[in-house]
Amino acid sequence: MFFLAEECSLCGNGGIGFYRCSDGKTIVFVCTECGTVWDDPQMADQAPVQFLNAENPPLPGHDCTLGGPVSGWATRQEIEAANLANWIAGEGSA
Ligand SMILES: [Zn+2]
Repeated sequence: MFFLAEECSLCGNGGIGFYRCSDGKTIVFVCTECGTVWDDPQMADQAPVQFLNAENPPLPGHDCTLGGPVSGWATRQEIEAANLANWIAGEGSA
């Protein structure tokens, strides 16, 4: 998986990874430890859009969720397709 940030600005324990939503193309940014979600890479140092407190929560401002069969950590190809490759800060295991 690819990281937007090696350290979550909220919990300090996890990394913030690129995550593909249920529509198969929307990329958001999710902490591997606390599950906080950001929808803008520039916001990763600021307030999150939501906390994950349900298995398949709707994502505010998007027509997709973080659940479903096609969602998961994004590949480099998907990150590049979303024009977000410049934001990749590192690569690691989830
Ligand atoms: Zn976190």
